[in-house]
Amino acid sequence: MAINFIPNDPLARNALPMRQQAPRPDRGTTLARFGMAGAVAPGLYPPGTAEFLFWQCREAALAAVDTWEILQGPLRQWSPYAISRKRLPLHPNDGDDLNAYYDRQSVSFFAHTTGAKTTFSGASTDVVAHECGHALLDSIRPDLWDSPFVEVAALHEAFGDCMALLTAFADPPTRRALLAVSPDLATSNFVEATAEDLSDGVRRDPRLGPRHPAAAPRHALNSFRWRLPTTLPASGPPPVLTSEIHSFGRVFGGCFYDTVRNIFTSSSARTEAALWAAVRTAGKLLIRGAREAPLRPRFFQSVGRAMVLADRTLNAGANRQAIGDAFSRHAIALGSAAMLAPTASLAGPAPRLGARRASLSTATRGDLLRRIGARPGARLSVRAGKVGGSTVVSAVHYREVPLQSVSRRLKGVVAVVPESTLVGAAGTRAAVLGALPEATSTADEVHAFVEMLMEHDDIAFEGAAPAARRAVAGRGRTRDLPTHAIRLMGRKKVLSRLRFASCPGRLVRYPAGLAMEW
Ligand SMILES: [Zn+2]
Repeated sequence: MAINFIPNDPLARNALPMRQQAPRPDRGTTLARFGMAGAVAPGLYPPGTAEFLFWQCREAALAAVDTWEILQGPLRQWSPYAISRKRLPLHPNDGDDLNAYYDRQSVSFFAHTTGAKTTFSGASTDVVAHECGHALLDSIRPDLWDSPFVEVAALHEAFGDCMALLTAFADPPTRRALLAVSPDLATSNFVEATAEDLSDGVRRDPRLGPRHPAAAPRHALNSFRWRLPTTLPASGPPPVLTSEIHSFGRVFGGCFYDTVRNIFTSSSARTEAALWAAVRTAGKLLIRGAREAPLRPRFFQSVGRAMVLADRTLNAGANRQAIGDAFSRHAIALGSAAMLAPTASLAGPAPRLGARRASLSTATRGDLLRRIGARPGARLSVRAGKVGGSTVVSAVHYREVPLQSVSRRLKGVVAVVPESTLVGAAGTRAAVLGALPEATSTADEVHAFVEMLMEHDDIAFEGAAPAARRAVAGRGRTRDLPTHAIRLMGRKKVLSRLRFASCPGRLVRYPAGLAMEW
């Protein structure tokens, strides 16, 4: 028995009409499933009825999961924090509202009447696939759930939108209809626009209205350029990029759609089959990237970089350019240029920058020192510098790292380590460019370096002018030129470099027995 199914969105039926099809079978008991109350026999129910909504919502949710499984393999469990790892309740109509959600207890949709029209969020395959996208991401990255970073939460939203795109792309009639209206995917179309009907409901609702952030469909074909979320307004109407997570997530959605577009348009044929191949490639990279990306404040970049790395593994890097160009179009630098990307806004105005001189405000200096875990008022050496053709401010802080843990012989000795931060502008504010130094990493790097020196017997413990060493050298050993010594600076014993030696102490490892002869 067939059902009526709207494969995209109730307001996209001009582009892709409702059709009749056999409902997807129930999922096997070894797989993660949905739980639905109020089952009715399948049939050709008209839109607007509870019976239609049941089968429409079920079909859309199963289509999203089927798409995921094409890309990722069998879905055997929901999130470890879901109410059940096997059976996630799916509520096509949980009451009066203009909304939809996933909360680890269920995937829930609503209905609301404005004027003569009732909006059913569970009747949009876009919206259902988006919510299932949250649940699917939660099944592989439950750690993203509680993150207080804007970009991590926005990535969760963007991932929902990407699942809506992928679910649409996975449908052959959708691909044919899409290529008929947008052969290179470069013009606005019913696939890249999501949640047309629900956003129309928001727009028409007198309590919400056209200036509400959700009052227009989200477009994955967009020209939003990434900006530090801390420098964005917290809210705004749909055309404005804000730090609200759906709004900000559009940046990443754009990166993903453009990745699909770039892979497709660089293939030899512009056919439905070529589009499907491009979608599968990009979708696999997205899921793997989302799964593997380090949890960082700059999470869009983190996922993009993980996608590039995944492509290197899966496709010998064939799509590196396609991914890099897509992210670059939205101002997310994935490669070496990431060194100069703003990563955090700082207190105070943008730095003043002359040809050779640079200065940071007192507020910026104080904020930077606090952020890198330096003591307040610590010395910060500031100068102008060129990086990759751009002039930036280099601010250097000197951190003292105790070395005793490397060797007992280094008890009371410290290394003084320059930590450099690039400072530039984000709008009118000062901002960190690239990575901010991190105290633990600094210490780890120093310890590894000093271990290497000890291994090579390159530290002159006797002082800067080691007479004993000369004596040793006089007996023919090659390690007569230690590169480092312990110097007393004020009351501190500081590991100091003596030289850059062309021949470190123990390039030649002497057998212990032979050494005894000396
Ligand atoms: Zn969402």
